[in-house]
Amino acid sequence: MSETKDLPYTVQSIVEKKIWVPGKLFSVKTTRDPDFNFKPGQYARLGLGLGLDEDEAMPPASDLTWRAFSMVNQPDDEHLEFFATLVPDGLFSPSLYELEVGDSIYIDKTTFGFLTIEQFPQGGTLWLISTGTGLSAFLPMLNDEKTWQLFDNVILCHGTRLIEEFAYTDLIDGVKERYGKRFVYLPISTRETHKDYPQKRFTDLIVSGELAELAGHPMDPEVGRFMLCGNPGMTTEARKLLGELGFKSGRRGNLGNLAVEKYW
Ligand SMILES: Cc1cc2nc3c(=O)[nH]c(=O)nc-3n(C[C@H](O)[C@H](O)[C@H](O)COP(=O)(O)OP(=O)(O)OC[C@H]3O[C@@H](n4cnc5c(N)ncnc54)[C@H](O)[C@@H]3O)c2cc1C
Repeated sequence: MSETKDLPYTVQSIVEKKIWVPGKLFSVKTTRDPDFNFKPGQYARLGLGLGLDEDEAMPPASDLTWRAFSMVNQPDDEHLEFFATLVPDGLFSPSLYELEVGDSIYIDKTTFGFLTIEQFPQGGTLWLISTGTGLSAFLPMLNDEKTWQLFDNVILCHGTRLIEEFAYTDLIDGVKERYGKRFVYLPISTRETHKDYPQKRFTDLIVSGELAELAGHPMDPEVGRFMLCGNPGMTTEARKLLGELGFKSGRRGNLGNLAVEKYW
């Protein structure tokens, strides 16, 4: 990789690209700087030189366009992986979608984010509620031994519009095989009927009590720890509903039982 000692980013390259749903959902795997470290749930800033001259290989960071992306891979993997939505009229994601194997991408040297399991007291049930690509932040937690040492059970809820958008199901099936009854996966689509799950929004499922029933675990602030990630409509409404049930974010060094990350 090129020398970027005095720059806040490194230059990496795409080693794999996967289209999950054409024109909509995709993932990219990149090379990784050996000094880039992160905890499951954290995110990186990816940069592209939109509109810059192609031979300007290492421009000032302020000339690049940056967007946040959660790491999907395990912290000790050789490569980094990001799962992305193509926002049709977006500034960044259409160009990210166009990248091919061998193309360069800039990655900020700093990692960010507090959506990590250390935010919660030990024990009880970890609820991971995501919509769309919000799933990304939770994937590295599922195969992290620490998650299973800290919590008795893990419930992964993934909300999408369509059934075809349920991504990373092989990885999720592997977690199910490994952890059996300690792990519950609830794929919920809002625009299509699924044979096993209701066609509803998470917030409605929380209000009706159906989410607790489907998961087979109560939504009890004594034993539940909630993470919400994705669409701000869902995170804002779910945070309010969970607040009414007694869940709280951590404050001033006190551990909470609710942590939220909005993707926009
Ligand atoms: C902490 C954090 C982590 C993030 N992690 C991811 C990730 O892992 N994967 C990912 O795809 N995006 C992620 N995002 C969103 C990402 O940073 C960009 O906003 C997204 O790629 C769109 O950029 P854009 O320039 O194409 O769109 P912009 O021109 O910036 O348009 C923004 C609009 O795009 C839409 N939008 C933004 N993000 C999404 C999304 N994820 N799904 C659906 N619609 C969206 C919203 O309508 C938003 O108002 C994250 C954002 C934050 C703040």
